[in-house]
Amino acid sequence: MFRWTRRSAPAAAVTVGLAAVIALTFAACGGGSDPGPGAAPAGTAKATSGYKMTQATAFPASATLDRIRQRGELIVGTKFDQPLFGLQNPTTGKVEGFDTEIARLLSIRIFGSPDKVKFVETVSKNREPFIQQGKVDVVVATYTINDARKKLVDFAGPYYTAGQDIMVKTGDTTVHGVTDLNGKKVCTVEGSTSEKNLRAKAPGASVVLVDTYSSCAEQLLDGRVDAVTTDNVVLLGLVSQHKDALKLVGTAFTSEPYGIGLTKGDDGFRAFLNDTLDEAYQNGDWASAFHSTVGTVATTVPATPTIDRYVA
Ligand code: GLU
Repeated sequence: MFRWTRRSAPAAAVTVGLAAVIALTFAACGGGSDPGPGAAPAGTAKATSGYKMTQATAFPASATLDRIRQRGELIVGTKFDQPLFGLQNPTTGKVEGFDTEIARLLSIRIFGSPDKVKFVETVSKNREPFIQQGKVDVVVATYTINDARKKLVDFAGPYYTAGQDIMVKTGDTTVHGVTDLNGKKVCTVEGSTSEKNLRAKAPGASVVLVDTYSSCAEQLLDGRVDAVTTDNVVLLGLVSQHKDALKLVGTAFTSEPYGIGLTKGDDGFRAFLNDTLDEAYQNGDWASAFHSTVGTVATTVPATPTIDRYVA
């Protein structure tokens, strides 16, 4: 199982190294201003207080929103084992990270409080079924928007753009880019874009598929696989917890725009989700959420993404 570890003070030097890696990534994505000092330890991100978001004064006609408001809570599928995005704190039971902060902003807009969210654990392969079966209202879970998924669900956003990268043991000197994965044992997660990209870009890799990236990290630490591949920021969270043993290779080779997944065809609800993101981009809440989570490791905040209000 995944080990939740609290990073200790001497890890500050590592933060600099990680920050350099992610700063490069953000620069490539058109990164923006520097968030400045005061970073908290990675993987221990706390919910940001003092958001400017307020409850909507008027709600659009939406049966989904009516149902959520009637119920009194928003049900959100998210990851429970991904530091920086969605990590369950074993002491408090609270799920912490950038994805969960996005969910809390939605909760403020709907209920006037960040705490009216019930988090349900989703892994990569059950995100579409959970939405289709109505087990969750939305999925906020490092969930890449793409055309194949849009046949099954809809997306608000994007609210962030990641890129696929590779994680190896610190002593590894053989992997510099995706083509070096040919002939290697590489762990990734079933139902992810990472799996598809790996098979397309390194067809000679021997692919080991599991349910979670934390279990890939375990396999890498144990020497059962040579590398792990998925989004840079997902890997960065894992590296931050095993800083002496694991490293990021640092060359992102895909673009992964993260969206909020919802029921296909629920256009009124999607517009409301997009409006909420837009508001958070404008009033600084998105940047605050980023600073308190991913920004604990990154030194550069990416530019706010442009929302894609596509017509299905
Ligand atoms: N963003 C990619 C995806 O949605 C990889 C990360 C994940 O599996 O959550 O498939």
